[in-house]
Amino acid sequence: MELRANVPDGPIEQKWEKHRFDLKLVNPANKRKYDVIVVGSGLAGASAAATLGELGYNVRCFCFQDSPRRAHSIAAQGGINAAKNYQNDGDSVFRLFYDTVKGGDFRSREANVYRLAEISVNIIDQCVAQGVPFAREYGGLLANRSFGGAQVSRTFYARGQTGQQLLLGAYQALARQIAAGTVAMYPRTEMLDVVVIDGRARGIVVRDLVTGKVSSHVAHAVVLATGGYANVYHLSTNAKGCNVTATWRAYRRGAAFANPCFTQIHPTCIPHSGEYQSKLTLMSESLRNDGRIWVPKRAGDTRAPGEIPEGERDYYLERLYPSFGNLAPRDISSRRAKEMVDAGHGVGPLQNGVYLDFRDPIARLGRGEIAERYGNLFEMYERITGENPYDVPMRIYPAPHYVMGGLWVDYNLMSTVPGLFVVGEANFSDHGANRLGASALMQGLGDGYFVLPYTIGDYLARQRFDAVDDRHAACRDTEREADAKVNRLLGAKGSRTVDAFHRELGVLLREKCGMARNAAGLEEALRVIPEIRERFWREVRVTGSGAELNQELEKAGRVADFLEFGELMCEDALQREESCGGHFREEYQTPDGEARRDDERFAYVAAWEYAGDGNAPRLHKEPLAFEAVHLATRSYK
Ligand SMILES: Cc1cc2nc3c(=O)[nH]c(=O)nc-3n(C[C@H](O)[C@H](O)[C@H](O)COP(=O)(O)OP(=O)(O)OC[C@H]3O[C@@H](n4cnc5c(N)ncnc54)[C@H](O)[C@@H]3O)c2cc1C
Repeated sequence: MELRANVPDGPIEQKWEKHRFDLKLVNPANKRKYDVIVVGSGLAGASAAATLGELGYNVRCFCFQDSPRRAHSIAAQGGINAAKNYQNDGDSVFRLFYDTVKGGDFRSREANVYRLAEISVNIIDQCVAQGVPFAREYGGLLANRSFGGAQVSRTFYARGQTGQQLLLGAYQALARQIAAGTVAMYPRTEMLDVVVIDGRARGIVVRDLVTGKVSSHVAHAVVLATGGYANVYHLSTNAKGCNVTATWRAYRRGAAFANPCFTQIHPTCIPHSGEYQSKLTLMSESLRNDGRIWVPKRAGDTRAPGEIPEGERDYYLERLYPSFGNLAPRDISSRRAKEMVDAGHGVGPLQNGVYLDFRDPIARLGRGEIAERYGNLFEMYERITGENPYDVPMRIYPAPHYVMGGLWVDYNLMSTVPGLFVVGEANFSDHGANRLGASALMQGLGDGYFVLPYTIGDYLARQRFDAVDDRHAACRDTEREADAKVNRLLGAKGSRTVDAFHRELGVLLREKCGMARNAAGLEEALRVIPEIRERFWREVRVTGSGAELNQELEKAGRVADFLEFGELMCEDALQREESCGGHFREEYQTPDGEARRDDERFAYVAAWEYAGDGNAPRLHKEPLAFEAVHLATRSYK
C-alpha cells in the first residue's frame, strides 16, 4: 500500500485554487452517465448527494434511519465556524487555519486545513441562501459566539440547534433532487460491505432493515459519509445508532484506517448516573462562553454549592490557563476535570462531576439574557437532572463525543481504494489529534458542498469503466459473506445480551484507551479484547429473526465490528509513544501535566492496512510537513 496524499504544489493560499483548475471536468451532458453511491445522509452525505444530484450525476443515497433527517448531525447544538470576521475582532482565513492546526496539536495535514478555512466562508453563504435561521445581531448581521481554542468569535449558531437547522437546509436541497429524479433515496438500508472490482470501489452490499433482504448496488464511485465511531466506548454523546461498520468493512477491503486512537472526550457533558445508563448527554461547549467551571478546593467537600464561599472554590481553568480560561480546548479541559475528580474534588451524588456555574453571568447580564442565549440547553439539563441551572450550578464531566480518526483520504478525499471517497466525520479529517468546537459541521459541509463535487469529477473523468451489474461475481460473493455474518449472529443462541458485551468493551476502552492511556493498560486491553470477542460469538443472544425489522440484530452487527475495531484503536495508541491532543499517554507529559509531543518520531499520520484475520495490521506513515505554520509547543496559558 502506498500513501499518496496528492497535495498540490505552490503556496498554501493558492493550492486549492490551482488544483481546481487542474482537475479534469466531466462534460455536463456526460454527468448523467455516471452513477454515484453516497452512504450517509448527515450533513456530509446530504450535502454531497444534493450537490452531485444538482450537478447532474445519477445518485443513490443510503441511510439506516427511517428518514435522512434523523442522521446524527441533527444533534449538533453549538455552532459552525467560519472566518467571516463579522466581529472585526482579528479573524481571518489564516487565523482559522492556524487555530485548527494548533488546536489539533500539529497532527493534521496543513493543505487540507487551509482549504477548510478558505471554504468556511462559502458554507455560511450557502446555508443562508437555503434559509438556515442563524442567530442575528440587532442590526441584522449574523451573530457569532466563541468556542474553545479560539480568541475570536467566529461561531455561527441557531440557538442550541445548529445541526438541526443546517441539516434541514441540506435535506431541503436533497429533497429537491429526489423530486427531480437525480437522487434515489434508500432509508432504513444498512451498508454491510464495499464491492471492489478490479481494485476499484464499484458498489456496496446492503441489507434492507425492514425485510432483511441483502442485495448489491453498483456504481462508478462510492462515497462514505457514515459519521463517527465514538460509540465504541458504549457510553457517548453520539446517537445510539452511530457505528464503525461501514468504515470498518471498507478497511477490511483495503481502505487504510488513519489515527484510530485519536478520539475526543468532550468536557461538557452531564455526568453518568448509574451502571445501566446507555447514553450520555452533551451540554454544548457554547455554555463555556459565560459559565464558570469550578470545584471545591477541599477534597471530599460535600456541602451544597451555594454554601461554599468564593475563597474556597477553585476556578481551575481560569487559574491554569489565564488567557483562554473556561474556553481552553476540549482535550485540555477534559483532562483537567478528570484530574480534579480523581483527586477527590468531584461534586454531585457520585462525586463524578465539576460545576459549570452561571451565578456570575446571571448577576451581570440578567436571567433574561442568559435564557435568550442558552434557554433550550438549560431546559434540557433540568429535564434530565431535575435541577434548575438558573438556581444551582450545572454538573458536568467529560464524555466520548467525536473521533478525529477515520478512513485515510488524500487531498481529493479518496481513500486507498480507488473510487472510494470518504467525507465528514468518517474520514480522518482535518482536525489532527484534537478537534476544535464547531469545526465538525464546517468540515462535513465543506467536504460535501465544496470539495468532493470537484474531486470526484476528476476521478470519473480519468477512468475507463467496464459495464458491471449486480449479478457480477464480486457482488454475489460479498452478499454471501454479509449474509453469513448475519446468520452467524442469529445462530449463536447464547444467553448474554448484545448490550452486555458492548458495555464490557466500553468500560475497558474508557479505562485503558480513554482520556489517559499508558503502555501497560493498552497491552492489557489488547489481551482482553480478543477474549471478549471470542465470548461474544459464543454467548451472545440475538432475539427475533432476520426477516423483519430487528434492531437487536442491527446492534449485534455493529457491536461485532466495534469488537474488532477496538483492538486497532489500542494498537494505534500503543505505537504512538507521545502525547498529542486527545491522545494523552501518561508516560509522556511535562512536569505541569501537559501533553509532550515527539515531533522527531511521530509527526505522521498513522494509516493502518488490514492484513487478514489473525495477522497484525500493517502500519504506514504519512509524514506531516509544516511549512506555513511552525511546529510549536501548544500553549493556552
Ligand atoms: C451531541 C453532539 C453535538 C454536537 N455539536 C456540534 C457542534 O455544535 N458543532 C460542530 O461542529 N460539531 C458538533 N458535533 C459533531 C458533529 O455533529 C458531527 O461530527 C457531524 O454532524 C457528523 O456528520 P456526518 O455527516 O459526518 O455524520 P452523521 O451525521 O453521523 O451521519 C451519518 C450518516 O451515515 C449513515 N450511516 C452510517 N452507517 C451506515 C451504514 N452502515 N449504512 C447506511 N448508512 C449508514 C447514517 O444513517 C447517517 O445518515 C456534535 C456531536 C454531538 C454528538
